Amino acid sequence: MTDTVRDFDPDAVVLPAGHYVGGVARCLDHRSIEVTRPSDGRTYGAVPEAGEAGVDAAVADAVRAARESGWARRAPRERARVMRRWADLIDTDRRLTEIECVGSTRPVGQAQVQDIPFTAEAIRFFAEYADKAGGELMATRADSLGFVAAEPFGVIGAITPWNFPLSMASWKCGPALAAGNAMVMKPSELTPFSTVRMAELAVEAGIPAGIFNVVQGSGATTGAALVRHPDIGKVSFTGSSATGRRIMAEAGAAGVKPVTLELGGKSPQLVFAEVPDFEHVAQCVVRGFTANGGQACISGTRLIVHEHLAQPLVERIVELVSALEPGPTWSAATRYCPIIGATQADKIETLVAQARADGAEVVTGGEFFAGGPGGCFYRPTVLTRVSDDMAVVEQEVFGPVLTVQTFRDEAEGIALADHPHYGLAAGVHTRDVGQAMRAMRGIQAGTVWINRYGRSRDLAIPTGGFKGSGIGKDLGRQAFEACQRYKSVLMDFEA
Ligand code: NAD
Repeated sequence: MTDTVRDFDPDAVVLPAGHYVGGVARCLDHRSIEVTRPSDGRTYGAVPEAGEAGVDAAVADAVRAARESGWARRAPRERARVMRRWADLIDTDRRLTEIECVGSTRPVGQAQVQDIPFTAEAIRFFAEYADKAGGELMATRADSLGFVAAEPFGVIGAITPWNFPLSMASWKCGPALAAGNAMVMKPSELTPFSTVRMAELAVEAGIPAGIFNVVQGSGATTGAALVRHPDIGKVSFTGSSATGRRIMAEAGAAGVKPVTLELGGKSPQLVFAEVPDFEHVAQCVVRGFTANGGQACISGTRLIVHEHLAQPLVERIVELVSALEPGPTWSAATRYCPIIGATQADKIETLVAQARADGAEVVTGGEFFAGGPGGCFYRPTVLTRVSDDMAVVEQEVFGPVLTVQTFRDEAEGIALADHPHYGLAAGVHTRDVGQAMRAMRGIQAGTVWINRYGRSRDLAIPTGGFKGSGIGKDLGRQAFEACQRYKSVLMDFEA
């Protein structure tokens, strides 16, 4: 999308209907769920919830489309061509951007420059795998031929969170569709609409109706029914670690099916005494814990800093965050976004209050911005005098809250950085390459960034956590391969 970023009228956004199944808006009603805009707290729409029967109807449609449309049997380059057309539509659909921003935490400026192009690019990236990963010929005796054939699962069930609705959706449907699967996706009930628009664009681009379906509803009803469904061959989930554990149990109880789990994090930013560029480190730390209001799985919310640098670094962080002014997501000027809703805001407030009561010092923040437009905007918050046993250090806050811990020597720093339960990502800042490598090896995390913090546009780099942060990868070749199953074939013949 190359348009200049501009404000939009939140009341003029035309929302799509709730469920999108078989290429049409479908009524699979169970009950209705109201949807609220985080920027001003107003209800702006509602979605019908699919119950067990509704999910069953959607999956049946996907099974039928997978069988009758020939999507999996199409020449892989043809699948790729259609998917590239889909990516082009995503890139240029102004309505999609507005639907994404109106009810989420994503400011239009950031969505237009980051989320939308990133979503489109993820679709293109996976489309390119369609005809480049077909299977493998194996070494066998001279009188037999052995090979491994890659096949789609059939129908993949995907469940996504609210924090980056379209990007998260593209990381699921990109590899699934490129590999020849059909899909039933359940977006978060807090941000249900943009995924439907994305699915409408898929059909407009030429992806057969019924290959990409969207059902709406709560996790406990719709999500759980999707995970349990016997015709869902694989489950791909992004969300909290608590839900991930439930999904794994549900999938196991329903039979045996693979699950990819992209879960929560409590990622450290480990700053050693000698860094290449002090100002760069301060900027990384601030971006790392305030981007999307701290509502990012990879948020770098634990600053582990050498005692010599701690004071100047905290001072600079406080200066930088004091410049962040909140605004509604539909304003082009907004750089600092709201908290998604009251439940999340309560969780942040409770954890900070508990930290205070346990002896933490609030260096800055620790409260909501006053006089906002009705949404809840939480001030970037820095807490010192914290310890590992405090809930604010142990648990994912999912808000703009940074805890600061200091260390004296390398081993102590690495030990503090390595969280006992989470292992999604880590940042390491040092001038010393050997020290960077020792830290990289010592921290059990699925991603380690050295002298930077955050993902790049390099979609070939997979993302996914260790320990309580998940199983499997999104993005990269690994995500495409995980959307296929592998059949071993051995044929004897007269040599
Ligand atoms: P969540 O776990 O509450 O919900 C995620 C999705 O799961 C929603 O669609 C929800 O309706 C559904 N769900 C809830 N209970 C379910 C159940 N029992 N069965 C099936 N589905 C169920 O998470 P959230 O609040 O939407 O998102 C924030 C979380 O997601 C954070 O923990 C964040 O770290 C994580 N996240 C991880 C990544 C990653 O790549 N690792 C990316 C983004 C977000």
